[in-house]
Amino acid sequence: MTEKHYDLIVVGLGAMGSAALYQASKRGASALGIDRFAPPHTMGSSHGDTRITRNAIGEGENYLPFVKRSNEIWRELEAATGGRLFHQSGGLIIGGEDAVAFHYQGDFVDESARIAEKFGIAYEILSADELLRRFPLLLPRDSDRAYYEPGAGVLRPERCIDAQLELARQNGATIHTGERVTGYDISASGVTVVSETSSYRADKLIIATGAWIADFLPETHRGGIRVNRQLIHWFEAEDRRLFHPDRFPFVIWIGDTLEDFWSVFPAPDDGMAGVKLVTEQYHTSTAADDVSRVVTAEEADDMYRRLTVPRLKGLREKQLEAEVCLYTLTSDEHFVIDFHPGSERVVLASPCSGHGFKHSAAIGETLMQLALDAGCEFDISAFNLGRLSEYV
Ligand SMILES: Cc1cc2nc3c(=O)[nH]c(=O)nc-3n(C[C@H](O)[C@H](O)[C@H](O)COP(=O)(O)OP(=O)(O)OC[C@H]3O[C@@H](n4cnc5c(N)ncnc54)[C@H](O)[C@@H]3O)c2cc1C
Repeated sequence: MTEKHYDLIVVGLGAMGSAALYQASKRGASALGIDRFAPPHTMGSSHGDTRITRNAIGEGENYLPFVKRSNEIWRELEAATGGRLFHQSGGLIIGGEDAVAFHYQGDFVDESARIAEKFGIAYEILSADELLRRFPLLLPRDSDRAYYEPGAGVLRPERCIDAQLELARQNGATIHTGERVTGYDISASGVTVVSETSSYRADKLIIATGAWIADFLPETHRGGIRVNRQLIHWFEAEDRRLFHPDRFPFVIWIGDTLEDFWSVFPAPDDGMAGVKLVTEQYHTSTAADDVSRVVTAEEADDMYRRLTVPRLKGLREKQLEAEVCLYTLTSDEHFVIDFHPGSERVVLASPCSGHGFKHSAAIGETLMQLALDAGCEFDISAFNLGRLSEYV
């Protein structure tokens, strides 16, 4: 068994961990990143070609600094790598006039508009008639209305992770993939991280293991975390050009029940299988290692017939590809970004609950600041770990 010493070890190199490792490497810290798979991969929460990003964050005002800073970092990464990470397609959030478009705090259409108004973010509220006129593939009901944000768009999650890991490597970080971490010990002089094949010493540790975060939390805090299997489908377009990000925005459509949540994504013409559709489910939880990775014919049928056909024209009933993806949900659906309750040597991050990717570049920077500076620039008090202990 070998033992090395680093300033910082990052366990989990998905959206959050790759960002933290990149930021630490930019600081010149000696850093080791370890992942059980080889990111970007399809086993966690950060795959599937695209992720929505918006500027008026209806999940809460305290998220705004994170998305704003992330947007700067995506541009920095695009300049450094020459790759395209963001498509400004614009984005729609649609909900019924009569029912509350319930998502997070309350009515997501109204809340997004309130935040846009307060923070000077360009937006429009569109009636069903205006939706039909401007976006002829959509099939709104008379009672639907939409929040439209022209500056919103989609990120390319695999490329974002790849770019940050590649730059971290170039800056001197060490990266171990295909190595599962099994535990860690905290002492007065540092932390020891143990994997299936080795052990490593460092001053500080960031744990960003996504759907496996509960394995690394104190037992008293695990009850507030659950993992839900979600589905991503790609269907064939009658005319793919109509779904290009220059013409077609992402659409989040909030129906009248929790099971009636549906999103469609713009399809850049660079190798994506087809047009991506997703839904959400909150009723059945699982363990990340036990989850069924097979998307059934019944699930594809439900996505196409129940959710898509009443809302969208232009897609054929031909599923080209499907993947399973994992939501790591806290009980209040907000993030966890905090020190371990027993030591400031360890920073714990679970920023998912289905809305973390757009903030991930800045969350990585925050995790790095917490680890190396023992404090951070943004207010993370709402993301404290302590609240999870209420749910044991
Ligand atoms: C279907 C779906 C749609 C989504 N849509 C959006 C969206 O449109 N916009 C948005 O902002 N967010 C969205 N999200 C949420 C967003 O994708 C997540 O918040 C984000 O990807 C979580 O990143 P993470 O780093 O926490 O997890 P991951 O990226 O999964 O990374 C965790 C890493 O830890 C590694 N790991 C786990 N255990 C160990 C171990 N024992 N040893 C070593 N390594 C380990 C894993 O291999 C993995 O690479 C969506 C999520 C899903 C599932």
